[in-house]
Amino acid sequence: MPAITVEDTLVLPRLAGPAADTRTRPVTRTVDARHAVEGAGFEVWRPFPGGVDPHVADPFFLLDQLGPVEYAPNEPVGAPWHPHRGFETVTYVMDGEIAHHDSNGGGGVIGEGDTQWMTAGAGILHDEVPTQSFLRNGGPSHAVQLWVNLPAALKFTPPRYQAIDSSQLTLSTSPDGGALVRLIAGDLGGFAGPGVTHTPITYAHVTLVAGAELEVPWDRRYSALVYVLSGRGLLGDERRPLDGHQLAVLGDGDTVRVGAAATQPGDATTLEVLLLGGLPIREPIAHYGPFLMNTRAEILDAIDDFNHGRMGTVPAVDLAADRTTPSQDPASPT
Ligand code: MN
Repeated sequence: MPAITVEDTLVLPRLAGPAADTRTRPVTRTVDARHAVEGAGFEVWRPFPGGVDPHVADPFFLLDQLGPVEYAPNEPVGAPWHPHRGFETVTYVMDGEIAHHDSNGGGGVIGEGDTQWMTAGAGILHDEVPTQSFLRNGGPSHAVQLWVNLPAALKFTPPRYQAIDSSQLTLSTSPDGGALVRLIAGDLGGFAGPGVTHTPITYAHVTLVAGAELEVPWDRRYSALVYVLSGRGLLGDERRPLDGHQLAVLGDGDTVRVGAAATQPGDATTLEVLLLGGLPIREPIAHYGPFLMNTRAEILDAIDDFNHGRMGTVPAVDLAADRTTPSQDPASPT
């Protein structure tokens, strides 16, 4: 699990601990991610939608853990050209390489520790596929895709693309040095992440060594979710166990507290966890496949616009490549 790693966390700046008389957010429920196969056949673990009500995850709609898997040569797969409208996709790669192209001219390679932030807004076509060298050689692959919803007023904002290099992540540690906090977007304990977001959120990937503990201030207005990528966590003051592919929904309070169990499963020595939350949008949600709108009529418009080429066209240079197969299933959300 390379992502971005640090030899000695003690050289990192320390997160501010919680202030006095703050209340730790309690665990209100835990859910198991559902295992699914998406796009051209990649394996995903999806805690939501499905696991929790969309209004609980608000302002997020979908979280996919892609892998971890070990691909043989010529085995890696991706999601060929498909549309999106009404939200933002945030793809964070821990292992492997994804090549990305979109109908707006954006694109590039998302490598280990990198994040690609694509605001679909009014509509865009894109593909997300392994790079040629990764396809040829295979190797470990592990990424996360998060969907951040947009409020009605921003559903039709122009598409925007941000490439966040691994070196831009804001790194910090806990007072005892047992945590490596990679802040992708938003504020956390006095630090700011590089992602520019339409909807205010906090999003971080945290590695905790076995037995270590992290408690960070969390905006009272924000939702709070903790997802375990691997290892065993202990959540909240109640030390609720949370294992790989499980999500915890936290209730009201001022801080988020995550511990790593002293004994980790298998031969793991760390807990790998995502902390995420944001300002709830609190609007009706209408979802179909790759579209996320407020009403069913807007979904029908989106399908019609896509079918008539009004969400952009596949760049001509890509029509000659071998990744032009459009998504076979229009309901596929990838
Ligand atoms: Mn996509």
